[in-house]
Amino acid sequence: MSPFDDLLAANAKYAETFEDSHLTGRAARGLAVVTCMDSRIDPLGLLGLKPGDAKILRNAGARVTDDVLRTLVLAVYLLGVERVLVMPHTDCGMSKVTDTDVHELTQQSGVDTRSLEFHTVPDQGAALEHDLTRIRTTPFLPEGMPIAGAIYDVHTGKLLPVAIP
Ligand SMILES: [Zn+2]
Repeated sequence: MSPFDDLLAANAKYAETFEDSHLTGRAARGLAVVTCMDSRIDPLGLLGLKPGDAKILRNAGARVTDDVLRTLVLAVYLLGVERVLVMPHTDCGMSKVTDTDVHELTQQSGVDTRSLEFHTVPDQGAALEHDLTRIRTTPFLPEGMPIAGAIYDVHTGKLLPVAIP
């Protein structure tokens, strides 16, 4: 017995009826979405997308970190991305704690995380503005590329536009 048996069994079923879409790894709708790892978010479903349409980048808090920028550069120049939506969400765990809180919590398990930055979100609007600016002003992405920000409401399923070009 493995803790992954359920997944392997589900995949065996999935593969039985799987049909190769013959898509490439390029984003068919030219879109990248940066969103949170929150398990309530179905990025494809809520935006009317299907597999193959978009690059989905997820992390805690939908933050534009160095690794997100690195991935966006690859997505734009190699994989057909022409527009980026940054999409944090309501009721985000990252807006309920500070980095200090997280360090204290992990310390209770005997783990010292002080060398990690968690990019917690004390002010969601300010964090989103900061992250959009980070994408807009990086020298590595095309000037004038459409960049949007919107907050997904996990209780209504609605997207609240914050910065739509
Ligand atoms: Zn979240």
